[in-house]
Amino acid sequence: MIRFVDLKRQYMEYKNDIDRAIKDVLESGQFILGRQVDELEDRLADFVGTKHCITCSSGTDALLLALMALEIKEGDEVITTPFTFIATAETVAFLGATPVFVDVSPRTFNIDPEKIEEKITSRTRCIVAVDLYGQCADFDRINEIARRYNIFVIEDGAQSFGATYKGRFSCSLSDIGITSFFPAKPLGCYGDGGAVFVKNDELAKKIRALRNHGQLKRYEHSYIGINGRLDTIQAAILLAKLPYFPREIKKRQQVATYYSERLQSVVTVPFIEPHNTSVFAQYTIQVERRDDLRKFLASKDIPTAVHYPVPLHLQKCFGYLGYRKGDLPISEEMSEKVLSLPMHPFITREEQDLVINSILDFYV
Ligand SMILES: *Cc1c(COP(=O)(O)O)cnc(C)c1O
Repeated sequence: MIRFVDLKRQYMEYKNDIDRAIKDVLESGQFILGRQVDELEDRLADFVGTKHCITCSSGTDALLLALMALEIKEGDEVITTPFTFIATAETVAFLGATPVFVDVSPRTFNIDPEKIEEKITSRTRCIVAVDLYGQCADFDRINEIARRYNIFVIEDGAQSFGATYKGRFSCSLSDIGITSFFPAKPLGCYGDGGAVFVKNDELAKKIRALRNHGQLKRYEHSYIGINGRLDTIQAAILLAKLPYFPREIKKRQQVATYYSERLQSVVTVPFIEPHNTSVFAQYTIQVERRDDLRKFLASKDIPTAVHYPVPLHLQKCFGYLGYRKGDLPISEEMSEKVLSLPMHPFITREEQDLVINSILDFYV
């Protein structure tokens, strides 16, 4: 059976390491933060090549912590993309600030740097750029604009952990980088988890405090914070999985290359910038007659997904922002055409052939 993401196969592959790691935590009696969390933070900071890593309870909380550390609040505007998961803009709105949506590039699905400047006002405090499907946004250009206007840049790397941009790793490309360890992300744990990456010592200290009720010392609260800590078991699982992660990335890239080779004559396959490497959190094609194709594939037990069917500026929860259909035409068009295919490091050639041949059958 083809799974969209096959976490069962992954677990069976690493079972010994993961079971031992979990057992160690159970026997230690420490379940929140602790040794494994400290060790994981060191390893992840090394992996990404940035000074500080602060793990936390989810990718959403990582975004929230980053925005809180920059003191984003009511009256502030935050520029972001409408073609992403809700958390990217939800956290901005949750803090009372206003998300300002900028359309994406049709080639990479990431925020179009050409269109950022016209949306900057005296209230703009920050840009949150997303690395959609596992490919980094154009951070050199985004950072350059931000520097000129003295605003911050957050990298939402929830889908791109392990990807590179001009030889540098995702989550190290701007003032603050965040990622998610949701089970289906490229590096997933077995529950919710996330991390914030930052170079600046002061910001790191503040984020670490915010994660734990704003306390710098026990029961002395310097900020209004949250309960955003990572569970020890999740850290232990991530530590067990981390040695296999580079190999998984390679496998994902091989799977993507094979899909693209065989599908490029009938559908629009992903475009990866020459200066990027993608970790293919999703392998997403653009197709005509998408809903019919989805039904046809479902009839053959092939799971697919749409990331994302409704761009954020047209979501009911953002109705108060006053956007209309037609305001961000590329995101709207993409939301009708994109289709994500089964993608994980353990998919077999035979399974891929079944997916590919079924798509080829549909279009001839
Ligand atoms: C998954 C995701 C998040 C949120 O991560 P969680 O760990 O599920 O809270 C944020 N941004 C993007 C782009 C995502 O894909």
